[in-house]
Amino acid sequence: MYDVTEVRKDFPILSREVHGSTLVYLDNGASAQKPKVVIDTVTRVYGDEYANVHRGLHYLSNLTTEHYETVRGVVARFLGAGSEREIVFTSGTTEGINLVAYAWAAPRMGPGDEIVLSIAEHHANIVPWHFLRERQGVKLVWVETEPDGSLDAEKVLAAITPRTRLVAVTHVSNVLGTVVDVTRITEGAHAAGVPVLVDGSQGAVHMPVNVAEIGCDFYPITGHKLYGPSGSGAIYIKAERMAEMRPFMGGGDMIREVTREAVSYADPPMKFEAGTPGIVQTIGFGAALDYLMALGMDNVAAHEARLAAYARERFKALNWLNIQGDAPGKAAIFSMTIEGGGHAHDISTILDQKGIAVRAGHHCAHPLMQHLGLTATARASFGLYNTEAEVDRLVDGLELAHRLLG
Ligand code: PMP
Repeated sequence: MYDVTEVRKDFPILSREVHGSTLVYLDNGASAQKPKVVIDTVTRVYGDEYANVHRGLHYLSNLTTEHYETVRGVVARFLGAGSEREIVFTSGTTEGINLVAYAWAAPRMGPGDEIVLSIAEHHANIVPWHFLRERQGVKLVWVETEPDGSLDAEKVLAAITPRTRLVAVTHVSNVLGTVVDVTRITEGAHAAGVPVLVDGSQGAVHMPVNVAEIGCDFYPITGHKLYGPSGSGAIYIKAERMAEMRPFMGGGDMIREVTREAVSYADPPMKFEAGTPGIVQTIGFGAALDYLMALGMDNVAAHEARLAAYARERFKALNWLNIQGDAPGKAAIFSMTIEGGGHAHDISTILDQKGIAVRAGHHCAHPLMQHLGLTATARASFGLYNTEAEVDRLVDGLELAHRLLG
């Protein structure tokens, strides 16, 4: 366990004021704040080291390339991947899932083939599959969550048919906080010969992840939620799946040779990284992951579990507060509505006036919101630097919102 007071000193933004109050940042599910080591790394690279990667033979290009490529190993270690060759850099989860859709799924799916999804997916893990439905006649098969917000792994597996070509599920719901048993889903899907994509956008943030233990085929993550720069990210792709993928974007860096008549490609993972990448973002992402590994993801998980338990206890006394999802072991993500009144945007605006940042809206999860019969919630999502005192500030803010709106 770490000393959260000390950890907070690593995040300069946490000491600023918003509307006259010290910031309480509870919008980590949307994007997390950055530790000084990430900010310093980005500044250092731009100020002292910057050049394009993989191209020049000059000193700065070699230095930047070395720092950039080092991150591949850092991501592999963070995710427990067997080899850094199974890591493709992306701009975030959205690009990672689109890469799988275009490079792996599209060429091998036709009319009537099926993709199994949970109703709790973020649009990033829905819309690329809708493209395949629209363009290639692929059928989307939906598995609903239980009343407590959990996702029954056996129901996901029961949705698999001889036409299923992929199961795509989130590790942790960005709305409900539900942790999905992706290891069981992968084991069962593989027994039926079906590959599995696990959307790691939220999962990798809240707990230690080991893709080798999960066994999944694809595990995209997004840098900005992992305390790194926006525009950074990566996807773990199992070597066998990567060998099956055709290139997605074409351009510089992903080729071996280009002639008037033909093109040959670089070996994976470079084959899937066309053009000048997010060089500085990726190096900053590496600094963020090193920071997290030094802190210990098990310590982050333990800290957040304690916070979540405290928050649940405090919320219990607010009998007008509805929290979506109460699955055992859920992550510290609370989507809330106030009984008898108050649009999520109004709740969020009242909290903002007290310096408390939460997200209001549909959280890019329309099918889940429809399933829950809601249009919007106010979502408080906790991170590694939040405190019990901040839970108290949130509760005070909610009580004020209830008085004003309820
Ligand atoms: N999946 C989940 C579960 C998410 O929470 C998010 C971000 N809200 C995404 C995918 C998309 O991530 P990004 O916007 O960084 O690509």
